[in-house]
Amino acid sequence: MAGGYIGRLLFVDLANHKTHVEPLEEDFCRKFYGGYGFGASILYERMPAKVDPLGPENMLGFISGPLTGTPALVGSRYVVVGKSPLTQTWGDANSGGYFGTALKHAGYDGVFFSGVAEEPVYLLIENGKAELRDASHLWGKDTHDTEDMLKAAHGDKANVACIGPSGESLSLIAAIMNDKGRAAGRSGVGALMGSRKLKAIAAVGDQEIPIADRERTMQLRRDYLQKIEGFGPVLRQYGTAGIMADAAMSGDAPVKNWGGAGTTDFPDGEKISDEAVIRYQDKRFACTQCPIACGGLMSVPSGKYRLKDGHKPEYETLASFGSMTLNDDVESIIKLNEICNRAGLDTISAGATIAFAVECFENGILTTADTDGIDSTGAMRKVLWP
Ligand code: SF4
Repeated sequence: MAGGYIGRLLFVDLANHKTHVEPLEEDFCRKFYGGYGFGASILYERMPAKVDPLGPENMLGFISGPLTGTPALVGSRYVVVGKSPLTQTWGDANSGGYFGTALKHAGYDGVFFSGVAEEPVYLLIENGKAELRDASHLWGKDTHDTEDMLKAAHGDKANVACIGPSGESLSLIAAIMNDKGRAAGRSGVGALMGSRKLKAIAAVGDQEIPIADRERTMQLRRDYLQKIEGFGPVLRQYGTAGIMADAAMSGDAPVKNWGGAGTTDFPDGEKISDEAVIRYQDKRFACTQCPIACGGLMSVPSGKYRLKDGHKPEYETLASFGSMTLNDDVESIIKLNEICNRAGLDTISAGATIAFAVECFENGILTTADTDGIDSTGAMRKVLWP
């Protein structure tokens, strides 16, 4: 087997509580690499056409790549694939943090689910051994509590990808969360877990990830560390929040549900950008092997948006809950990010949906009869925090 791969894929039949393992062939790896390359090939070969995304025939895959868990820079990602319940076509979402690496250390390059479980379950993968377990005590819990409960059961080294109440209730914009703040957010993949009553995957193990030429790999890491110096400082200092103000001003970030301009409609973008955001950052957060550490743990010490140990909103979240809805209150965005992370909801789609609703209200398409009497004209804060 080529370096970078564990060499095994796991297949789980949720309806019959059965698992089987297939070896990864080198030719397949060279053709499709990993991530959604593997996912597209396997779904194309094994899934019937025109399946109902939320039905038993849809397949759901969690797949790492050959760089995941190796010393390669930003070698942390895993991808979730399936037919999207939101778009009714190809769906994928990817996430960083530690879950992708943990899946490989637990013994698999990827895991694919089919069928629907009768009762809520979670998959425990422990050094190659895979087992479906009862998750009725986890159903209804948010993503933070789910992760805490699974770590309490299987040890702190267990890494968890899970859904919250949004995925359970089949929200078409539900995300899959890991590390309490990293999201495979797009395409409604959280609803794919919810529809098959799969609450979580817990991965734990210490299997070595093979590397074909470790010396050369380390040299490449050093080379690329120098190459990223140019853009590294902004990402290191602020994360993607570092570009928010310029993005709104230049038209890169959407303003007022895509109908406005930063220069006239959202001139105070710096209130939800770079320094204004990291003022609330307690410490930086890095995914596996990443020297950039663009993430951050946040707290808002007082007031109605008070929180502790939240995650730093990404630029997309600042745009969706900020410039899209003309909301320049950064504390409210940090809080909204945290609410979505706990519920397992894609922050981009959530903010965009609210922005659309506000525009509908402003044009008389929605009225106070639809909003429980709340006047939703203007900034979204009125909608969420009347
Ligand atoms: S810390 Fe940031 S830059 Fe590094 S892998 Fe994670 S998301 Fe990417």
